[in-house]
Formats: sequence, structure tokens, C-alpha cells
Amino acid sequence: MSNHILVVAETSDGRFTSITYQVLGEVARLAGLSLSKGGGAVEVVVLGSGVHTAADLGALGASKIYVADDPSFAKPDAALVAPTVLALIKRTQPEAVFMGATALGMGLAPRLATHLQCALTSDCTAFAMEDGQIRVTRPVYGGRAVAVYQPKKLPLIATLRQNAFAPAAANGAMAASVEALTVVPAQNAVKVVETTKSAVGKIGLNEANIVVTGGRGMQGPDNFALVEELASVLGAATGATRAVVDAGWRPYGEQVGQTGKTVSPSLYVAAGVSGAMQHLVGMKTSKVIVAINKDPEAPIFKVADYGIVGDALKVLPALTAEMKKLKEQG
Ligand SMILES: Cc1cc2nc3c(=O)[nH]c(=O)nc-3n(C[C@H](O)[C@H](O)[C@H](O)COP(=O)(O)OP(=O)(O)OC[C@H]3O[C@@H](n4cnc5c(N)ncnc54)[C@H](O)[C@@H]3O)c2cc1C
Repeated sequence: MSNHILVVAETSDGRFTSITYQVLGEVARLAGLSLSKGGGAVEVVVLGSGVHTAADLGALGASKIYVADDPSFAKPDAALVAPTVLALIKRTQPEAVFMGATALGMGLAPRLATHLQCALTSDCTAFAMEDGQIRVTRPVYGGRAVAVYQPKKLPLIATLRQNAFAPAAANGAMAASVEALTVVPAQNAVKVVETTKSAVGKIGLNEANIVVTGGRGMQGPDNFALVEELASVLGAATGATRAVVDAGWRPYGEQVGQTGKTVSPSLYVAAGVSGAMQHLVGMKTSKVIVAINKDPEAPIFKVADYGIVGDALKVLPALTAEMKKLKEQG
């Protein structure tokens, strides 16, 4: 087995997705700690069509980049790409294979683990090295507890939860060598005919630098226009609590929390959100949290950097008006 971790990179519209940078960031950190003695290396497999920027990953710590460039990989499907990735793993023998807990990763990881008869840990939220052994943390029982695993043998296949890890930073490392991979044909693979972005907000929650979330305190679906107006002025994505989604006020794609999305934006505005533990786990790593709630005892204020005690239906329009003024002043 070779002393390296393989990262499965994902692209969208020719650019690496944010989860790819997050997986690379964590893998570069782990490679520094080393899965085995002597320091590990980071290798990346890029699956896509018309991939031009693969070599850029060298600056993020990758020493070798394999590019599987094929028109059929423009919208990669797990069953379609699995044979190509599997052939690479069998040839290069990495100690671990890491990818995002995305639609692609969630389909690819179990396929690889089944073929390789090795351990799979999905939706991981932390990794650590102890006595030269990797320890993997992931939520269990719907997020009510966390479990720590140690694989009995390597390789380990892992999918990483979106926005749970810091993205890789350019460290000016050496240029990586790039190798073109021969695509291994897949049997019984589905063909992705079309992908459609969910009709949620204008900015994707996972990618957003600012998120404005409304909770049940918004009192009804129509009042979410106030959330959208502030989000629009701030260039933010809109989020919702599960109570709101369950009530059918907002689509599931907007749900933030344990059974929704994990976000870690620079600014998180929570309006009419109580701050239940299951909501907090999905947003508490946001850099600055602003809470608007009419109840001064609401738990959300315990994690908030700025708290506004008041009626969200009045505070939101006032904030939007002030933000508009600031924008006009440049
Ligand atoms: C297994 C499990 C998983 C879960 N997963 C998630 C999850 O992923 N995400 C999630 O969000 N929840 C999740 N929940 C639900 C969670 O426990 C809470 O029920 C939910 O987050 C509450 O949503 P809320 O804050 O909108 O509503 P509430 O708890 O009803 O809070 C509404 C808040 O609005 C305030 N308010 C009322 N009127 C106004 C007003 N006019 N102006 C300002 N403030 C006002 C109230 O003071 C209150 O604090 C999960 C629960 C379970 C059991």
C-alpha cells in the first residue's frame, strides 16, 4: 500500500466545487500528520469533461493529479465513474480515498468499498490521528450522538460532510504532475440526461458567504418576503428551520440543521429562530451570528454575536432599509 490519500475532486461548470477544496484542506492536514510514518502525499482524481485547471491543485498540496476527461463525465454519475476510479485505486493503492458527501460521493463511496471489501465511513465531520491510527467522527442516530471509528485495516473510504471542514489554502507547493486516465467503461450505468438547480433562492446555501434564515417566528409563508428582501440586498442565500419546512412554508432545500444543510458563512442572520440544538449544529460555526427574536431568553442568543430583541416582522424591513442606504452610499 502506498503512502498517500486519494481525493475525488468534483467540478461544476468547469470549476472545482467548494466541497472539493474542503476535502483537499482536510486531507492536506491529515497527510501532514501522516497515516503512516514518514509523511503522506495527496493525490487527486478529477472526473469531468474539458478539465483545464487540474494542475492548479498542486498549489493546494496535491503532488499528483489524475484526470479522467471524457464527454460522458460532464455530468458524472457514481455508477459511470466507479470503474475508472476503482482501476486507479487498484493500481496506485492509496491508504485512504476521500470525497464529499455529495450526490456523487454518496453513490461512489459504497461502490468502491464493496469492490475493495474495505471500511466506509460516510458523512464524516472530523478526523484525528492517534498513535499512528486514523480516528473518524461521524454523527449517528439522526445526529443525537457522535461515534468515533477506527478502521481495522486500510484503505479507508470516507465521505466528508459539506461545510464541516476548512477549505485548502494555497501554500505555493510544487507543481503537481498530471496524468491522463483511460476511462474504464461502466456496465449498467445510468446516463444523466439533465441536471436542474433546485429553485431555491438565487444563491446556493452550501456556497453562500451570507445566509438569512427565517424560523417559525416569521408567522407565515408570506412574511418570508422580508427574509428574501434582506437576503437580496446582502447578496445572501435564504435558509429556514425544520419547523418552517415541515409547515410547508419553505422548500426542504433551504433547511439548515442536523437533518438539513450544514453552513458556515461569514454572516448568519437568524430571524424568528428559537435556536434548537438540531438547528444550531448546522450553523454554529458561522463567523458572525446575528439573531432577531422577541424572546430575550431564546437559546439562539447564547450563540449569537449580535442579538436584537424585537419583532422580526419590524426589524427585518428596518435592517433591509439601512443596508440599502449603506449600499447607495457605496
Ligand atoms: C431528529 C431531529 C432533527 C431535527 N433537525 C432539524 C434541522 O435540521 N433543522 C432545524 O431547524 N430543526 C431541526 N429539528 C427541529 C428542532 O428541534 C426545532 O423544533 C426547530 O428548529 C424549531 O424551529 P423554529 O426555531 O423555527 O421554531 P420555534 O422553536 O417555534 O421558535 C420560534 C421562535 O420565534 C420567536 N418568535 C415568535 N414570533 C416572533 C416575532 N414576531 N419576531 C421574532 N421572533 C419571534 C419565538 O420566541 C421562538 O424563539 C429537528 C428535530 C429533531 C427531533
